[in-house]
Amino acid sequence: MFVTRFAPSPTGPLHLGHAYSACLAHDMARDAGGTFLLRIEDIDQSRARPEWEAQIDTDLHWLGLDWPTPVLRQSERSDAYLAALDKLTALGLTYPCQCRRADIEAAAGAPQEGVPQFGPDGRIYPGTCRGRPMSDRGPDDVIRLNMTRAAQLLPELTFTETGPLHAGDHRVSPLALVDTVGDPILLRRGMGGSYHLSVVVDDAHQSVSHVIRGADLFDATPLHVVLQTLLDLPVPVYHHHRLIRDDTGRRLAKRDDARAIARYREDGMTPAQLRQLVGL
Ligand code: GLU
Repeated sequence: MFVTRFAPSPTGPLHLGHAYSACLAHDMARDAGGTFLLRIEDIDQSRARPEWEAQIDTDLHWLGLDWPTPVLRQSERSDAYLAALDKLTALGLTYPCQCRRADIEAAAGAPQEGVPQFGPDGRIYPGTCRGRPMSDRGPDDVIRLNMTRAAQLLPELTFTETGPLHAGDHRVSPLALVDTVGDPILLRRGMGGSYHLSVVVDDAHQSVSHVIRGADLFDATPLHVVLQTLLDLPVPVYHHHRLIRDDTGRRLAKRDDARAIARYREDGMTPAQLRQLVGL
């Protein structure tokens, strides 16, 4: 059974890039006789707004998309994320971290040739708190995954990619992720989980068989496969699509109000014309 999802964060207007992603996922599900789901990734409650969620609903319906309701909201799923976190803790793979961004910058040291400084979770964490036990956890701490220890538990992993840019079977060496990802955050301050943890828990919970999303998340996929394997969750097929760029070649961001779907609608464009604009 083919199940896919579009998973926007309600932190701003959907733009042309979102329209492309949502329509592509919807069309692929339709062509496969499968299901297209909408998931609201409102895990960061300090940035999510109900009015943006309402706008997502309006924009996607205007584009002609339909999905089963009620939709899953990540803000209602913290128990599931905490259960996953407990499982990783029981495996001895988590530690509390009190480092703030400035501490991490200061501890990062000078760049070394051939060693990446940034990964899919931002600046690669230098490991300052890695020796702290979970019993030492303070109220302001984040929780991180000890990737070195995780790599010791895991064999080499694989995932299948069907997107045009990286199509094929990909090998994931968990040991290589120690350098390219580092120790990612699993639980952020004031949130029910981190993006990486919540996305793998929810994709499994919703039986998502095909993850269709922008190419900017391709580099996060090895980390997602590691988390899925540690949590005994199935690894879906991945399809990372090209990104829609502005006239200067930059990828669109939430602040690109000029390319918001709502703006094109107000200017009188039809959904068919908008699809054409993004190359669908
Ligand atoms: N919520 C993410 C975003 O808006 C998408 C995550 C995903 O598709 O895995 O970029």
